[in-house]
Amino acid sequence: MSASVVLQQAREFAAAELVGRQALLDSFADAPLPLYRSFADLGLANWWLPADVGGLAIGLEGSVGVVSELSYGDAGAAFTLFLSVLGTTIVDLYGSPELRKRYLAPLAADGGFCATLGSEHEAGSELTRMSTSAARHGDDIVLNGEKSFSTNVAFADFLVVVAKSADAPGEHVAVVVDRDTPGVQVVKRWEMLGLRSSATYQVRFADCRVPAANLLAGPGIRLLEVALNASRTLIATTAVGVARRIRDLCMDYAETKTVQGAPLVGHPVFGGKLGQIEMQIEVMANQCAAAGRRFDQIMAGPAAADEFLRHGTLRAALAAKMFCGQAGWEIAGVGSEMFGGFGYTRESDIGKLLRDMRYVSLVEGGDDVTRDLIFNRYVIPVMKRV
Ligand SMILES: Cc1cc2nc3c(=O)[nH]c(=O)nc-3n(C[C@H](O)[C@H](O)[C@H](O)COP(=O)(O)OP(=O)(O)OC[C@H]3O[C@@H](n4cnc5c(N)ncnc54)[C@H](O)[C@@H]3O)c2cc1C
Repeated sequence: MSASVVLQQAREFAAAELVGRQALLDSFADAPLPLYRSFADLGLANWWLPADVGGLAIGLEGSVGVVSELSYGDAGAAFTLFLSVLGTTIVDLYGSPELRKRYLAPLAADGGFCATLGSEHEAGSELTRMSTSAARHGDDIVLNGEKSFSTNVAFADFLVVVAKSADAPGEHVAVVVDRDTPGVQVVKRWEMLGLRSSATYQVRFADCRVPAANLLAGPGIRLLEVALNASRTLIATTAVGVARRIRDLCMDYAETKTVQGAPLVGHPVFGGKLGQIEMQIEVMANQCAAAGRRFDQIMAGPAAADEFLRHGTLRAALAAKMFCGQAGWEIAGVGSEMFGGFGYTRESDIGKLLRDMRYVSLVEGGDDVTRDLIFNRYVIPVMKRV
């Protein structure tokens, strides 16, 4: 399936299955797995996986279009369907040929999910302070500790866990864990304000034993940082889809709402607001595409895994997430105000879009953290400045 066909199918899926289904998607019922199954039945699940494991091999730039379409329908569904990119990118780049085949091929063939576990309550964004430990016992690794947030864990096929090494102080590892391994315990599902069709959990590892062959090659936190380039770009992209939906909702409303005896849509103040929103959407979409292109460019190189390790976090991906989070939040504010008091009720669609938009600036690094990263990695080293 070509990138343009995947894009078209994602657009049709969003129109048929997501738009207008707020009652289901915002309800915080069990994650709507039959809906996600129907996406997989179209052959679209995990569309980014590489061709050598049977995937559609849609690059990150192509994925930006797909995620914009899915998020136009529902940001929580989009998040659920793309977040496996975080763990699968680590396995793709740093897994042995055996691990790539065993874990990625089934996800390409049948759909399914991979969850990634980095965050912990005490450590916060200072991942080096994480306390979940991985200890070598003969041919096995034994995991112990608690991860505060992990999306898709309950129904994932496998997990990618980042933990501190119990054997080499100051070092961290990343390891693949089958979801049904004894000792993987889901503590609870968090009730999130937005993205309520997605599901994020607190997870405990209690003497969880996995083969040492499941270790991924390289320093765990750096591997996570590399793969965050993909998921941060797609988190940024959800802001584009949600912003496009807000724009269209505002246009529909302004055609029926009258102000000073005329439809709001003809009022210059309204036109100014929508012109501003369109400009922001254009810049947001372009930055996400640029971040996707940069990632694809490295991925296409002869030594992508090493090249990514040298770069770590990419400026384009950080800029996309920060800019889209900020511009998206501004757009959500304008949209919310547009509907007057009705916009503040649960009966309006705009309230959900506002709550969904909020996550862009929070997940995978709040703005204080991403600003700090850009400053340290791309401003202090003079040769890296644009
Ligand atoms: C819906 C959702 C899904 C998630 N899914 C996953 C998942 O699948 N896997 C996973 O591992 N995690 C996941 N997370 C966790 C998420 O990535 C983190 O919550 C996020 O990165 C923020 O980190 P934190 O919660 O540790 O807060 P912190 O980053 O610790 O922030 C708390 C406060 O400290 C401040 N602060 C922190 N560092 C700095 C700094 N350097 N400079 C200045 N101020 C700073 C912040 O600004 C903030 O005010 C998810 C979270 C949510 C809400």
